[in-house]
Amino acid sequence: MHLEMWGIKKTFGAFTALKEISFKVHRGEMVCLLGPSGCGKTTALRVIAGLEDHDSGRVFIGGRDVSHMPISKRNVGIVFQSYALFPNLTVEGNVTYGLHGRGMSRQDMRQRAAGLLDLVGLPQAGEKYPAQLSGGQQQRVALARAMALSPDVLLLDEPLSALDAKVRVHLRSEIKKLQRELGVTSILVTHDQEEAMTMADRILLMEGGSIVQDATPDDLYDHPATVFAAGFLGSMNFLPVSYDRAAATAAMGQARLRVPDEAARGDVGTRAVLGIRPEDVMLVEDGRGIVDSSEPNLLAVRADSLEFRGALYRMRLVAEEGSSLEQALFADVTARQVRRMGLGEGSRLRVCLPLARLHLFPGATDEAMP
Ligand code: ATP
Repeated sequence: MHLEMWGIKKTFGAFTALKEISFKVHRGEMVCLLGPSGCGKTTALRVIAGLEDHDSGRVFIGGRDVSHMPISKRNVGIVFQSYALFPNLTVEGNVTYGLHGRGMSRQDMRQRAAGLLDLVGLPQAGEKYPAQLSGGQQQRVALARAMALSPDVLLLDEPLSALDAKVRVHLRSEIKKLQRELGVTSILVTHDQEEAMTMADRILLMEGGSIVQDATPDDLYDHPATVFAAGFLGSMNFLPVSYDRAAATAAMGQARLRVPDEAARGDVGTRAVLGIRPEDVMLVEDGRGIVDSSEPNLLAVRADSLEFRGALYRMRLVAEEGSSLEQALFADVTARQVRRMGLGEGSRLRVCLPLARLHLFPGATDEAMP
């Protein structure tokens, strides 16, 4: 294990920013701390770097207990949201800044800078000043600078947040590629779920100073443990239900829905929340056999609105007469299917909530729903 946090607690006065969090990161792995603003991501990163003292717990990097070491001894590289380059130094001067006093010859330092600038796609920029570069280019320089010391751990604090959408998308795949090639153990802090899903090998989802789920991106998406996790990563429809008399069914208003068997183990009347992602709501195309005829949970609905999103439409579906749907349901439908079915506002249709696609959150109540 390359990085370990053991029961790290951090308070600011009466406020507890980190509630004894523990996690481990393998050598060469990129782990993302993901969560809403104020959940403690940056504080956790600053504790690893040694920029922030913690109240209790221990931090290990490469097997060394660095809990009380100053940042200069921890051998971490950091990239901040704000680039934080020295404006009066050239790009090369920025990249080699941390190498002075390490017994390297000027020639070696120049070579190292050139190699790193090559790696981040800026082979010609050494003589330029930060102000002559775009935001994306400055962040590449910051990355080269962080890598110059061959850090044991690379810490990335919202590195792409200040960049515009196009540059962000481009740079995130480049950073990921570079991180893989160099095999540097990395921690990425972000509140951007897409960034976390595309870059991380593993996501630690945080809420209120705690890690609430630790999983690979696809596992977190497919098996969110809580309503919070389900709503934070991607979208989900949440339907309040209560356990019904028959096993594996739940009542939603007047309707009885089949729910996943293994999850339906509650006393009759116990409330729970049923979730389904918009892309999993299936439209029933009569006669085309799109939906397995044995599927339960068919609902008659009307398209209330269609929002164009490029390849997809997000449809807002409301109850059609005789249907028991009490709240709107969102469905993502490919533009192709919308055209083929001739769907528009007011279209009447049937949808299916496939059993295999339902998430049941036992014990969750309406209040937990976003
Ligand atoms: P963001 O994405 O907004 O940066 P975050 O998840 O990184 O959020 P932190 O910056 O770690 O959150 O902050 C966690 C909590 O600790 C916040 O409520 C914040 O107000 C508080 N906090 C952080 N630093 C300090 C400080 N120096 N003094 C007092 N409170 C602080």
